[in-house]
Amino acid sequence: MTSKPNLYPSPPDAPPQYGDVNAPAESLRPSVINVQQPQVYMQGGAQNNLGRMPTIAVCPSCHARQQTTVSHEPSTKTHLLALLICLVGGICCCCVPYCVDSCQSAVHTCSSCGAFIGTYQN
Ligand SMILES: [Zn+2]
Repeated sequence: MTSKPNLYPSPPDAPPQYGDVNAPAESLRPSVINVQQPQVYMQGGAQNNLGRMPTIAVCPSCHARQQTTVSHEPSTKTHLLALLICLVGGICCCCVPYCVDSCQSAVHTCSSCGAFIGTYQN
């Protein structure tokens, strides 16, 4: 006596279809207003008010609220200023913008984990 295996099991019953009584109401999307500040470029969602000096900010990586570490890096404006000074005042003075912090952009990093927080450009 051989029992034939059931090669084609019957599909599971589909869940019963109810009406649209329990259909969720159309979810209202929160209006995201993307306000871009012209000079401060942020990474992450935290809104930190960065300036040229070390400031209290929330780290997007470790979420610590503490004073940032600022390092100054030459920006496009620094290079343009150096070029302008080179044309006007001679090549001896063209390195001045690279030595003046206020001519460079301030890069804020987390003093705890070293994560990049944001850049302030003059
Ligand atoms: Zn951090």
